[in-house]
Amino acid sequence: MVLGELGGSITRALQAMSNATIIDEDVLNECLKQITRALLQHDVHIKLVHNLQTNIKNIVNLHELAAGHNKRKIIQQAIFNELCKMLDPGKPSFTPKKGKPSVVMFVGLQGSGKTTSCTKYAYHHQKKGWKPALVCADTFRAGAFDQLKQNATKANIPFYGSYTESDPLKIAVEGVETFKKENCDLIIVDTSGRHKQQKDLFEEMRQVAEATKPDLVIFVMDSSIGQAAFDQAEAFKESVAVGAVIVTKMDGHAKGGGALSAVAATKSPVIYIGTGEHMDDFEVFDVKPFVSRLLGMGDWSGLMNKIQEVVPMDQQPEHLQKLSEGTFTLRIMYEQFHYMLKLGPVSKVLSMLPGLNAELMTKGQEKESQAKIKRYMTMMDSMTNEELDSTNPKLMSESRIMRIARGSGRLVRDVMDMLEEYKKLTKPMSKMKGLKIPKKGEM
Ligand code: GDP
Repeated sequence: MVLGELGGSITRALQAMSNATIIDEDVLNECLKQITRALLQHDVHIKLVHNLQTNIKNIVNLHELAAGHNKRKIIQQAIFNELCKMLDPGKPSFTPKKGKPSVVMFVGLQGSGKTTSCTKYAYHHQKKGWKPALVCADTFRAGAFDQLKQNATKANIPFYGSYTESDPLKIAVEGVETFKKENCDLIIVDTSGRHKQQKDLFEEMRQVAEATKPDLVIFVMDSSIGQAAFDQAEAFKESVAVGAVIVTKMDGHAKGGGALSAVAATKSPVIYIGTGEHMDDFEVFDVKPFVSRLLGMGDWSGLMNKIQEVVPMDQQPEHLQKLSEGTFTLRIMYEQFHYMLKLGPVSKVLSMLPGLNAELMTKGQEKESQAKIKRYMTMMDSMTNEELDSTNPKLMSESRIMRIARGSGRLVRDVMDMLEEYKKLTKPMSKMKGLKIPKKGEM
C-alpha cells in the first residue's frame, strides 16, 4: 500500500526512541531526524515537514517535563497529533443531503483517475440511498463520454452527455437541469482533465463552475504525483473553489506523501481514497484512523465498518464486546481471522488491526499472509475450548503444544509461531478496553 513504507520508517524511529534508556535531547533529535527524512523521501512537501518538526520541538520541551512524566508517550502523541494536523485542514467539506439536489463538480489532471472516481463516488452514494446522476462535460478527450457511459451503465446510474456537442458549458448546464427535473439529489459533473499549463482548459473549468454553481468542487489527484502535487493543487485552487480532495491509486507503490500534502495547498480535506480500478475500491478517508494505520496502531472504526459490511448487526461477533472489556483470547483471534478472510483483500483489513503495520501488507505478501492465517486457524481447530478461551499465558504447556501440532499435522515450531503472534497481538488488543461498542442500529 502507498505509504506503507513511510509508516514502517516512522514506526522504526519511534521504536528506536523507545529502546533508548534515557530520553534526552539527542534521542529526541535523532528520532525527529529519521521521521523528517522519511517524510521527505516520501514526497511530503518540505514546508510541511519543517512545520511538523518545529511544532513537535515546541510541544515536547524535555527540560520542562518533570521526571516521572512518560516522555515516550508524550513524544509519540505529539508526533501522532502533528501528522494528523498535517492531513487535516481543520474544516469539513460540504456533505450532500439526501432528497435535496446537490451539484458536485470533479476536476483534476488528465489521467488522475477523475472519471473513474466520479463513478465510484456516485456508486458509493447510491448504495447509501442517494439518487446520483453523472454528467460528462469532458468534450476535450475523445472517448471520455464513452468511458463515463460504460461505467454509469454498469452501476445503473443515469448519465448525460453528447457525442456531437463540443461546448462543455452547454452540456454541463443541460445535464444539471435535466437531472434536477428528475429529482436526482446528487448530480456529478465530470470536467475535462487538464495539464497545469493549459490555460484555456483552466478557463473552461472556471466557466463550468460559474454556470453550474456546484455545491462542492472535488479535486482528484493521483497518489504518484510526488513533490509537484503542492503546486498543482494550488493552481487548481486558484481557478475554482476546491472544497475536497480525492487521492487515487493508493493501491500502487507510489510514495503518496505529495498527494496528501495537497491538503495544505487546497486547505480542503481528503474525503476519499481510490484503492483500485473497480467500483468498490473506494474508501472514506478519515485522518485519525489513517494515521493510526500508518503507525501500526490499527483502525478500529474502519475494521468495525468492514465487519459491518459482511456481518449483519444482529450476528455481530460477541468478541467485539469482549474486546471492549479488555479480554483477548485465542478464540477471539480465531474469530477475527475468520472475518478477515471473509472481508476480502487481506492487506486492506490487516492494516486496520492494531500492531500490524501497513508495511507488512504489501501486495506481494498478500497471498503469504492469507496462507499464514489459514495455517493458524487449522492449528486452532485442534485446540480445546479451555485453551481457546483461556487468558492464562501459562496454560499452553509443552505437552499441549505437541498435541496441537500432532492434531493439525504441523510442526511444534508452527504452533509456537502462532502463539507468538497471539502474544504480540494481546498488547495492542488490550487497548480496546473501555471502547464503546455500538449497539444494534447505532452504526
Ligand atoms: P481521468 O483522465 O482523470 O478521467 O482518469 P481515468 O478515470 O480515465 O483513469 C485513468 C486510469 O487510472 C484508468 O486506467 C483507471 O482505471 C485508473 N485508475 C483510476 N483510479 C484508480 C485507483 O484508485 N487505483 C488504480 N490502480 N487505478 C486507478
